[in-house]
Amino acid sequence: DTLSPAPTTAQSEALFARARAVTPGGVNSPVRAFRSVGGSPRFIREAHGAYLTDADGTRLLDYIGSWGPMILGHDHPAVREAVTSALAGGTSFGAPGEREVRLAEAVTRITGVDRVRFVNSGTEATMSALRLARGATGRKYILKFRGNYHGHADGLLVEAGSGLMTNAGGALGQAAPSSAGVPEEYARLTLVSEYNDPAALDALMQERGVDIAAVIFEPVVGNAGVLIPTPEFLAALHRVREHGALLIADEVMTGFRLSLRGATGLLGLRPDLICWGKIIGGGLPVGAYGGRADVMDHVSPQGPVYQAGTLSGNPLAMAAGLATLEVLEGDPGLYGRLDTYTAQLADGLRAAAREAGVPLSVNRIGSMLTAFHQEAPDGAIRSYADAARSDTAAFAAWFQQMLARGIYWAPSQFESIFVGAAHGDAELEQTLAAARAAYAGLGGQ
Ligand code: PMP
Repeated sequence: DTLSPAPTTAQSEALFARARAVTPGGVNSPVRAFRSVGGSPRFIREAHGAYLTDADGTRLLDYIGSWGPMILGHDHPAVREAVTSALAGGTSFGAPGEREVRLAEAVTRITGVDRVRFVNSGTEATMSALRLARGATGRKYILKFRGNYHGHADGLLVEAGSGLMTNAGGALGQAAPSSAGVPEEYARLTLVSEYNDPAALDALMQERGVDIAAVIFEPVVGNAGVLIPTPEFLAALHRVREHGALLIADEVMTGFRLSLRGATGLLGLRPDLICWGKIIGGGLPVGAYGGRADVMDHVSPQGPVYQAGTLSGNPLAMAAGLATLEVLEGDPGLYGRLDTYTAQLADGLRAAAREAGVPLSVNRIGSMLTAFHQEAPDGAIRSYADAARSDTAAFAAWFQQMLARGIYWAPSQFESIFVGAAHGDAELEQTLAAARAAYAGLGGQ
């Protein structure tokens, strides 16, 4: 066992107490509060490569990567240098600059969209793309999938995944809307279908298709844990266009992660609009949405769909995004290395769980992985309902065992973990040693 004497968490606990007095629940985003695994969250002081250092000075091997953006690892020299150099020229202009043009050129060239608009978060990207779809089609309704999460805009907090699957206000199986404060009238404009159920999607489109402005989906789901789409489901998604609805791929998590061209590139999808966030900002706050010129040209000031942002196209954020995309493009072996590491991680977790007699079903694609605590065969978990059958108590116990061994896993059964370029052989070995001990600790239940 790799467990050394329990590191102190006194500083994190003291910060958490101070934070709770001044911020709801002590955090600025719910999943960070560790509600579904118990205990106090670690407050992070700094991060380099694959490691975080918490407020008590404990080094943690990071599998969250800021929930996706840090594909190159923390504090990557190229990103640091780009941001530092931008910083010397001022932090915000409220006027256009060359970096925005360069990042837009890179994104359009790499992904094949004609036009892209930068915003400040994934939430803004999906919210704006839906407004655009409604403006471009003149229709009111949108369709999303159960357990997919597209940020916290009102109309998207309906049967949503991620923190809504585990935190107060979003109990499993709860009917729409999944947050207080979203009027029923508003939620009614959001229709919900099951992920990976082509027949249900076809039927809903048959019945309501003429009213639907857009179908928005995660091309690979990260927010119910990892769910991988079937070819039949992808074909049904393409058919929504026959009803005049726009197809919106939410690549906030998968964009530039599953390949340089994201999940849509990997899976051969042809959406009308794509949303990005996370990696496109290299760890600074950025989102984006893009698509064909005939659709995007409805956006203000070219067209009548209004969307704006005081800090949009921020020079530091653009610099971080550009540097990140340049490193990704300049290292053709990188995605293969991420894939190999994560495949070995998946195999190692399966073997360790099997050895300890712990039921585990691993979904993995590229550098995204969720190890569900349940009996289902590998690959059989395909929907929110499937994921929800997991033993969250067993997951929480395993999570705490891993954390005690210095492995910082996502603190919820219903999230993906993210492997980055700074994860190497030593990290894999350390993780699997910890996992063997952690599963053994759960065994014999
Ligand atoms: N869409 C997806 C698929 C996401 O995973 C997320 C965030 N995890 C969002 C949208 C929202 O992005 P943000 O948190 O930057 O608003």
